[in-house]
Amino acid sequence: MTPACPLCGGGRCAPFELSTDPVSGRSYAFVRCGGCGGEFADPMENPGPEWYAKAAFYNEDACRSGAAARLRGGVFLELGLAKDARLLDVGCGAGEFLALAAGAGYSRCSGIDFSPAQVRLARENSGLEDISVASLEEFLPGRDGSFDLVSAFEVLEHQPAPADFVKKLKGLLAPGGLLMLSVPNAARPLLFGGREAWDYPPHHLTRWDAGRLDRFLAGLGLEKVGLKDSELPAEHVYNQLFGVKLDAAVKGAIAAVKRLLFGGKAAASMDEIVASGAAGAAGVLRFRLARRLPAAALKLFFRALLLPVYLPLWLFYSAAGHRGTSLVAVYRAK
Ligand SMILES: [Zn+2]
Repeated sequence: MTPACPLCGGGRCAPFELSTDPVSGRSYAFVRCGGCGGEFADPMENPGPEWYAKAAFYNEDACRSGAAARLRGGVFLELGLAKDARLLDVGCGAGEFLALAAGAGYSRCSGIDFSPAQVRLARENSGLEDISVASLEEFLPGRDGSFDLVSAFEVLEHQPAPADFVKKLKGLLAPGGLLMLSVPNAARPLLFGGREAWDYPPHHLTRWDAGRLDRFLAGLGLEKVGLKDSELPAEHVYNQLFGVKLDAAVKGAIAAVKRLLFGGKAAASMDEIVASGAAGAAGVLRFRLARRLPAAALKLFFRALLLPVYLPLWLFYSAAGHRGTSLVAVYRAK
């Protein structure tokens, strides 16, 4: 039996895709609702922190690409909110958006994230104090109507109960306050590479295009202020053609060289270094550079080498009107 739609509550849902999670070995279906057109996973379950620890490679996904961050930043600044607006970023990660807001003169910014390491980085990156380790449920009590803008970037698609999640965010808004969300754009072109590993359950539990997101948010009593997709980045075409396989090869080669040099001793993880606080901000930066520079240099080399292949394709797809990997929505609480 297919489940009821978690987006509109309707029935008539039919599975259209089956997948197996490589981390847990569990099988999932992706289901389309005949009522609202929404797409969601079955079972609709967040896999929990242990799964995320094992699947850390998903974190380096294209959702966090430069194009998505630029789109979010641009949309936010265009809103032209008063500088004393109260902002909250839910799932703030390393604080990229909070740093942008603080840099633009917004001083009443708050953030929450469930990762202590990310919260520490977010404080360092933004210079803001009011960023705390908390789940949305822990943060909610006593904060009804406290914010002029609540944002959640690349969070909705991980939610096992998306409608409840948006209702909770809406409850945090002052009258006329704005909800700002971003999600991966399901309407991005999937070329020969097909759907990326990060867009399958249990990592992503819902998939959104502009129409589906608009129907969903309007159905929850929110009014559209703006809904934008990013332009198609050349990086996406490269990733679709070569990125995943080449990245895996590059990572494998670097790991092999490290084993040769260091005799298989495991280095401390990024989270351990940040959480210990011993290294300080400069130490964390050095560590990141040392860890990422070899991979970044090799990637750049391949990007340059393969430019004649993917650049014409990118121009072709852009000219044909294809749009990018990210969708940003701003909706007003009525
Ligand atoms: Zn539905």
